[in-house]
Amino acid sequence: VQGGAAALPVDVHLVRTRAELLAALKPHPRPRIVQVQGLIDLARSDDGRRLGEADFRDPALDWAAFERAYDPATWGREPPKGPLEDARRRSAARQAAHVVVRVPSRTTLVGIGTGAGLTGGMLLLEGVEDVIVRHLQLSDAYDHFPAWDPKDNPRGEWNSEYDNLSLRNARRVWVDHCSFDDGQRPDRDEPVRLGRRLQKHDGLLDITRQSDAVTVSWNHFRRHDKTSLVGGGDGSVADEGRLRVTYHHNHWEDVKERAPRVRYGRVHLYNNLYSVTDEAAHGYSIGVGLRSRIVAQNNVWVTPPGLPAGRLLRWWGGSALADSGSLLNGQ
Ligand code: CA
Ligand code: CA
Repeated sequence: VQGGAAALPVDVHLVRTRAELLAALKPHPRPRIVQVQGLIDLARSDDGRRLGEADFRDPALDWAAFERAYDPATWGREPPKGPLEDARRRSAARQAAHVVVRVPSRTTLVGIGTGAGLTGGMLLLEGVEDVIVRHLQLSDAYDHFPAWDPKDNPRGEWNSEYDNLSLRNARRVWVDHCSFDDGQRPDRDEPVRLGRRLQKHDGLLDITRQSDAVTVSWNHFRRHDKTSLVGGGDGSVADEGRLRVTYHHNHWEDVKERAPRVRYGRVHLYNNLYSVTDEAAHGYSIGVGLRSRIVAQNNVWVTPPGLPAGRLLRWWGGSALADSGSLLNGQ
């Protein structure tokens, strides 16, 4: 992966604001290096104001009316449709237009100094190749308008749109020395609507839709639910033969699940550290999904005593896993 290594001086940018970042990432075919200084808030307006739900919400969206309209007791388990769901979608589109930042091919996006990063939005690598993302804090990809999916799990779920970093049909990508978290807005603090806790964050790093040749090294994933997906659905048969991903030397700290959860992909996981302080908040680490092929070597789990080894893996229909050298609390 070369990223923007061959950039001409004119294509090396130092950015400190969202506007500078967007200008530096404007599509052109030449390699580029974009250096980020400080923490850039993707939810800020150009005049520096932090935009919240009210700034993006469509006038026709009323959450109390939404709850009444799509209460499973009366609406049932069909996907929501009608004017309130349309208004939610329009609101979501307005937020996405502001907080999703696309990274073009042949780019190195790198943090300079301490505390460099992006918050309040999603970094999207879609249909691109040869991208390096390094030394960035990526935090709080917060969705003000999660979708209600009544068919997800027995009682329905709220599902969010944004990952801190999302790879969709992205090839030859290196993600190195970044940190990923929910910032100051953990989902456990969200209210309950339609009987389920609102989920305002999706993945920290999701790798889907035929992405390939990806290395994820020396990153810190912390205090999050659905952490890293490789393969977005059992029906994504075009992922077969793609989704080759290596994860090494990452620290997975108090993440609930998907570290990673793999479908179709061929994934090499080695020298990763998994630390768990709250057994009740831990679901599983490695998800062995449909047609996945996983080689895990020398990964280390540090957990409360007595956590059974069976809690490190979860079987989702996969059939090929090789493990060697794993240690659970030193054994
Ligand atoms: Ca879900
Ligand atoms: Ca996702």
